[in-house]
Amino acid sequence: MASALTEKLSRLVKQIRGQARITEANVQDMLREVRMALLEADVALPVVRDFIARVKDKALGQEVVGSLTPGQALVGIIHRELAATMGEGVADVNLATQPPAVILMAGLQGAGKTTTTAKLAKWLIERRRKKVLTVSGDVYRPAAIEQLRTVTRQAGAEWFPSSPDQKPLEIARAALDHARRHYFDVLIVDTAGRLAIDEAMMQEIRALHAELKPVETLFVVDAMQGQDAVNTARAFKEALPLTGIVLTKLDGDSRGGAALSVRAVTGAPIKFAGVSEKIDGLELFDAERHAGRILG
Ligand code: GDP
Repeated sequence: MASALTEKLSRLVKQIRGQARITEANVQDMLREVRMALLEADVALPVVRDFIARVKDKALGQEVVGSLTPGQALVGIIHRELAATMGEGVADVNLATQPPAVILMAGLQGAGKTTTTAKLAKWLIERRRKKVLTVSGDVYRPAAIEQLRTVTRQAGAEWFPSSPDQKPLEIARAALDHARRHYFDVLIVDTAGRLAIDEAMMQEIRALHAELKPVETLFVVDAMQGQDAVNTARAFKEALPLTGIVLTKLDGDSRGGAALSVRAVTGAPIKFAGVSEKIDGLELFDAERHAGRILG
């Protein structure tokens, strides 16, 4: 499936060779293919519509320069617009605050929050030479607290204990106090996730946000979630001032169209991509490269 669009576009490019200008007629066929490909990649329909309208706007009447055919020029426009829609260049993590910089992890259960907390801890230790503390506010699942302890150890970071008989706010305050007194650069706070969005969970994470005043509030979302990612993203955006997105499980066989939808709905930059289950499977998100993946 991945290479199908490129092949189809190449065929269409050949058909419109020899014309000096991109016209409505030759744009139409190509955009139909792009629309199909984006829908197949699980981009949400309204996002696809907006995207197609923007490409059409940019393409129509554009002079074709040098040795490019109108078809090739259009493919270039599509690729650039796709990358620009997902973010310009590579967005780094923001730690510009009085330490400890707090990073709050938000997302549904199973999205990859705990795994990403540890991956991010390792990334910050290795790439930014930071001293990192993690803590779990998931008082509903003792196993989640244990899981964070295990993966934090693998990451080479420090873990702050918490337990199901504590309140998440109490845990957050104690962890922040510990991080301050022991000169940690970064405190990453893993939070409880539910299988579906519910108001109690949103209120709890809002309270945590108010208490911790994080410099980064990262929304962790599973790339395999496809169309559903839009609704989840909207709910979290309404609850919290998100500063970034982590798109997990990009090593799966999804085309990663969720990136486009989630970015459109939240307006927040996609900062990281999860690319394996392993502790070092985290990369800075590269919009250019991801545009190539979606286009196939
Ligand atoms: P949480 O409930 O949001 O904390 O999710 P977890 O961190 O427990 O992750 C849920 C599952 O997804 C686990 O089996 C992880 O190993 C897996 N996972 C997380 N991120 C990735 C990733 O980038 N790639 C793959 N293949 N699996 C991942």
